[in-house]
This record gives sequence, C-alpha cells and structure tokens, in this order.
Amino acid sequence: MRILSGIQPSGRLHIGNYFGAMQPAIKLQDEGDAYYFIADYHSLTSVHDGKALRSYVRDVAIDFMACGLDPDKCVLFRQSDVPEHCELSWILSTVTPMGLLERCHSYKDKIANGISPSHGLFAYPVLMAADILMYDSDVVPVGRDQKQHVEVTRDIAIKMNETFGAGLLKLPNPRISETTAVVPGLDGRKMSKSYDNTIPLFEEPGPLKKKIMGIKTDSTPVEEPKAVEGSNILALYKLVASQADYDTMVADHLKGGVGYGDFKKRLLQAMTDYFAPFRARREEIVADKGYVEKVLAEGAEKARSVARKTMARVRDAVGLGA
Ligand code: ATP
Ligand code: MG
Repeated sequence: MRILSGIQPSGRLHIGNYFGAMQPAIKLQDEGDAYYFIADYHSLTSVHDGKALRSYVRDVAIDFMACGLDPDKCVLFRQSDVPEHCELSWILSTVTPMGLLERCHSYKDKIANGISPSHGLFAYPVLMAADILMYDSDVVPVGRDQKQHVEVTRDIAIKMNETFGAGLLKLPNPRISETTAVVPGLDGRKMSKSYDNTIPLFEEPGPLKKKIMGIKTDSTPVEEPKAVEGSNILALYKLVASQADYDTMVADHLKGGVGYGDFKKRLLQAMTDYFAPFRARREEIVADKGYVEKVLAEGAEKARSVARKTMARVRDAVGLGA
C-alpha cells in the first residue's frame, strides 16, 4: 500500500493539522510505503516572503518528526526538491475541466476569508492531483476540507486514463478520521494557518494560555447550564482529554454552576500535558545540527527516483520528448 500526504509550510503547524492529518499519517507509516511531503509550491499561494517560507519548511520537518514521523519508516521530502510535480501538474491541467475546479469549496472558502484569488490558488487542486498521482498512491490521509480535492484527483486520473490509456494513473482514496475530521479554530471556523485562528502545536506557555482563554464563547451566566452542541471548548477538549475527564466536562456544562473560564483552564492543562512529550522530542531534533537537512536530502532522492519513473511513463503516453 502506497500512502501519501502533504502539509503546507504556510505557518506554524496547529492541532488541526495534527489530529486531522499528521497523527493518521504517523500511524500509517507502519502499515505501508509512506511518502510525506512539505508542500512549499502550494504555500506560495499564501506566503510571499522567501525567508519566512524557508524557515516554515524547516519547522514543518522538525514538528512532524517531533510528533512521531520516523524518516527510517517513511520518505519525508520537500515538494520543490521534486520539480516533476510542476510538470505533471501542467499535463494534468490540460485535461482538467474548468467546471471541476470552479466547484471546489476550498478555493471559495479561502477567497471568502480574504486570501487573494490568484490563478495558483484556483489551480491548487491540479497540483495536488499531481502530488498524489506521481507516487501511484493508494491512500491519502487528510482532514475533511481536503476530501473534495482527492475526489478531483480521481476525476483527473480517470480523464487521463480515458485519454491516454487505461492504467496510466492509479486512482487514490482519501482516508478521513471521522472523529477529527474538522478541528475548530479559536473563532469557531475551521482551524487554518491562514485564518490566524490556530493553536500552534508548539506554542509557548504564555501565548498558549492567552489563546485558550480567548476562545469565543456565548454569554451564558456561570450558574446556568451551557450548550454542549457547538461548544468549541468541548470539541478541543475531546481531542486531548481522557474520556472520563471529557464526560465530567460535559456533565458540568449540563448542570450549570461552572463558568467558561474554568473549562478553559482544564483545556489548557490537558493540552499542555498531551503535547509535553512531543515538545521534549522537538528540542532533541533541533539540537541535532544538520539532521533535518540530511533527512530532507535523502527524502528528495528517494521521492525523485519514483517521480522520474512516473514522468517517463506519462511523457511517453502523451507524446512529449523523442
Ligand atoms: P492553509 O490555511 O495554508 O490552507 P491549513 O491549516 O489548512 O493551512 P494545510 O497544510 O492546508 O493546513 O493542510 C494540511 C493537512 O491538515 C490537510 O490534510 C488538511 O486536511 C488538514 N487540516 C488542516 N486544517 C484542519 C482542521 N482544522 N481540522 C482537521 N484537519 C485539518
Ligand atoms: Mg488548508
């Protein structure tokens, strides 16, 4: 089984990335042949500062490994180390119907949230299709926001196979963990690096406290029962607390007499405890000079050798080159 997943270096990784995509990907590294990449071409759609982008790339690699990604079990690479992704993307774009892209929610959501509507952002699903199809991927672990893009990838692969020959590209399947499909942000929207509503995975204690205490709540008085449905605090607490502690918080919501401030303090404690071991591992990785560069260089070589083979097949099928 070939597994593929990517994360954009468009900011600091957050707990939505962790529960939606990284944790499932880390589990899958023991179950198949996994390729995980840092999607720097993609993040050019939102980051236009070269120095910042390079530092985000490095941080994504460090954070992913701190959370349990093991470069001895999977291939970790930087997308731009494999420029074949862009070549395949162009070829795919020539068979991709405009209507397919016009229907994509992610583009519309980003525009609605103030990201400038560039052609790159619009064409993002085609590059993502190239990322996936390049590695003959079977399984793509993603959050729910990316489900439609994996479906678009399948549609593009079908179109390619109809046009240039059956079996040219393999059809992938999304793998979405239903319990963590959409992690809400501090403001209740999907937690997203580009929405400034995240809880970064490795946030410092001071800012973490400030963020959690600032989660939006309604104005129900302390003594009254509080809504369980739609509670951001509960949704986040469920991810990091034990079942028993979660049940207690639900009961406290229902019976009233406990304020939101109290719930937020419990959330802060559970969040801090949950990520403490990752924080320790992160420090070890950072202290190991040259380690990240070495991992990415090795990953690039392995990924590129697969990409070259796929491109030879595709170029031959479509008629490029001699
Ligand atoms: P950006 O705002 O730049 O798009 P992002 O925070 O949405 O960044 P991505 O790099 O686009 O992060 O997504 C990486 C992976 O994390 C994808 O599989 C995506 O589905 C998943 N993911 C992102 N946000 C969430 C979330 N809030 N809940 C669950 N999964 C998420
Ligand atoms: Mg995103």
